[in-house]
Amino acid sequence: MLTLDYHPTGRHFLQIPGPSPVPDRILRAMSLPTIDHRGPEFGELGLRVLKGIQKIFQTKHPVVIYPASGTGAWEAALANTLSPGDQVLMYETGHFASLWNKLATRLQLKTEFIGLPGVEGWRRGVQAHMIEERLKADTAHAIKAVCVVHNETSTGATSNILAVRKAIDAAKHPALLLVDSISGLASAEYKHDEWGVDVTISGSQKGLMLPPGISFNALSPKAIEASKSSKLPKSFWAWDEMLDINKTGYFPYTPNTNLLYGLAEACDMLLDPAHGGLEGTFARHVRWGEGVRAAVKAWGLETQCIEATSHSPVLTGVVTPEGVDADAVRKLIYERFDLSLGTGLGKVKGRMFRIGHLGDCNDLTLMAALSGCEMGMKLAGIKLAGSGVAAAMDYFAGHPAPVDLQKAA
Ligand SMILES: *Cc1c(COP(=O)(O)O)cnc(C)c1O
Repeated sequence: MLTLDYHPTGRHFLQIPGPSPVPDRILRAMSLPTIDHRGPEFGELGLRVLKGIQKIFQTKHPVVIYPASGTGAWEAALANTLSPGDQVLMYETGHFASLWNKLATRLQLKTEFIGLPGVEGWRRGVQAHMIEERLKADTAHAIKAVCVVHNETSTGATSNILAVRKAIDAAKHPALLLVDSISGLASAEYKHDEWGVDVTISGSQKGLMLPPGISFNALSPKAIEASKSSKLPKSFWAWDEMLDINKTGYFPYTPNTNLLYGLAEACDMLLDPAHGGLEGTFARHVRWGEGVRAAVKAWGLETQCIEATSHSPVLTGVVTPEGVDADAVRKLIYERFDLSLGTGLGKVKGRMFRIGHLGDCNDLTLMAALSGCEMGMKLAGIKLAGSGVAAAMDYFAGHPAPVDLQKAA
């Protein structure tokens, strides 16, 4: 029996928080012929994307591009800066922080995983004071790196990275700051240089609106210095050869050429002043998050994140009522309305689902997604307090997007 149907009527609603829907403009850019990655034309493409991605990270320092998923770039960040047995302090914001912790352990790092107990930490951003206290106690400076997730995709909480930087500085601790912004970059505000981050890890299939397949390490001079004495084994991930050959726009091994066409297009779109540039991009996502949260509130449900200052502009986690299996609701919504929602991961499996508001979306695609959620929850027998769809319509109609305001002026 054929179960894969790539051609349903209308568009499938890919409303998971990554991979996100890819704009047609990017799909078209990627359909160009694959060229010789050592040929004369390639260098120009390479330099263009390496420059473009620096602007997205808001950094003047090098960004490494790997033909790999985000997990590879996690490994690269650790392997290039640390040595076997090094102590690293990691903070548990949710499932992705837990997976990074597991990866670090497998690389033979001594990880210490701190956070609030139970699922408490899975409902908030990083509590920077806990990092400060832990670093102050480490008077011998045994901790070599602090690892935090910027936008925790499993819960919908965005952490204050500048507060983490300040915590490390307040403890007068030399540890490197490594940040996973795989799902935050190009949707939630992010400033690699200004926030004093040493390595930022990101990936293609979330805010950058590309298919999966490339990922990034944005570096600081301190991280590059640390890489010179780091002893963890690395070859494919090694920064040194990459940085050297990147100077001319080329790569030490075959890069993901067609995804780089897409990346060039994505940078143009995200930086386009006609749409408000990066600031406009961040403001769009903040507004979508507010609209979706207005819906959740009207339904009488809780969001997974309960810290007012940490609600993610990228996705919203919706907690289903006690006794309702969130995955059964997701399945029903998928089968009836061709809408994919994110599953609950790890500690919150079956307790919540996630609505992505990133990638190629707008007010009306989000309204459609919210309609699918509302119809599906009603069909699943959930007693909703009111119409989230009506609340979101009121929110979007009542709060014009910043760029629309500019047009109206
Ligand atoms: C998606 C994601 C990852 C994993 O990236 P892959 O591309 O699936 O390897 C890691 N961290 C966060 C925060 C993510 O959103």
